[in-house]
Amino acid sequence: MEIKPIIEALLNTPYAKVNDPEHLYVRCPLCGDSMKHQDGAHCGIWIRPGQPLIYHCWICEESGIVNTSFMESLGITNGSVLNDLNLLNRAGMKGAKLQSTFHMRTKDWNPSIPVIQDTKNNQEKLEYMRSRLGIPFTYKSLEGLRIIFSLDDFLKLNHLRIHPKYQKSRFFLNRDYVGFLSTTKDMITFRNIRDSKYRYIKYPVFENNPLEMQSYTLPSQVNMLEPSVDLHLAEGTFDILGVFFHIQHANLKNQIYSSVCGSAYKKTIQYFLRKGFLTNLNIHIYSDRDKDLDFYRNIYYDYAEWFRSFHVYYNMKSKDTGVTKDEIEEVESVWNHN
Ligand SMILES: [Zn+2]
Repeated sequence: MEIKPIIEALLNTPYAKVNDPEHLYVRCPLCGDSMKHQDGAHCGIWIRPGQPLIYHCWICEESGIVNTSFMESLGITNGSVLNDLNLLNRAGMKGAKLQSTFHMRTKDWNPSIPVIQDTKNNQEKLEYMRSRLGIPFTYKSLEGLRIIFSLDDFLKLNHLRIHPKYQKSRFFLNRDYVGFLSTTKDMITFRNIRDSKYRYIKYPVFENNPLEMQSYTLPSQVNMLEPSVDLHLAEGTFDILGVFFHIQHANLKNQIYSSVCGSAYKKTIQYFLRKGFLTNLNIHIYSDRDKDLDFYRNIYYDYAEWFRSFHVYYNMKSKDTGVTKDEIEEVESVWNHN
């Protein structure tokens, strides 16, 4: 397997340029790159020995592993080059655990979060958020966390129609639920704030949505090339807010906070690895008490070669971390390596 032909093929695409020996730029095939500069190239590609190539576009903020679909969307179809790339990725990924399909997006999906109206009903939702975690949230701070109080306002603001399957629950979603916009912004996890047998409702923003990635991630800007990045994971949306505010004191520097919305830890971890966070993640899992350490052992072994470190924590005072600060007393178990 040779890396040189891959680099040459990339550099042969229109407007591509070398930045330094480990770093080149191509015109972004995902967003079409800069509209202003028709000769611009803002999608960076990093070349690091023994690792898959990683791209990151400074215009659309997309990032991930350079795979054959990425190459094809740049017009590179040379079979032997694509074959070399596959070998590079497989060798680097030992068993191709990170091979993923590349979803070509015609335009960037970046929905707006509606301003929360000060109604009596929304005051009740605000009060629920405050008392559940013991944090003096304001409407503004909740909007900043991509939290949605009104599905109708969200739909209207983003020119969307109600998903036909949820037409019947529309009234209740608006009245009784607080929504969390997912990491990929194409799903909303709604949590009931009153007593209901339907505590959680997962609402797909688009029809025919496969709902592959259901996790909710707190907004933050993290450079995937930092040598050390902390990825905090918990099951529920309130659990991860508890981790962020009570345990990490709202620290955002090189930190990612994500709730996996169930126990799909692997999917969420894979998502961030594919985004390009290879070998620099410290994974911190804040476990529910009903999951023992064995549950995490196979997550660890599946991806161990890609972590910097791996930690599991239990809250000894309560079943999870979606509680007030005085209800948290953490205990850590560590599987370290390297
Ligand atoms: Zn782009």
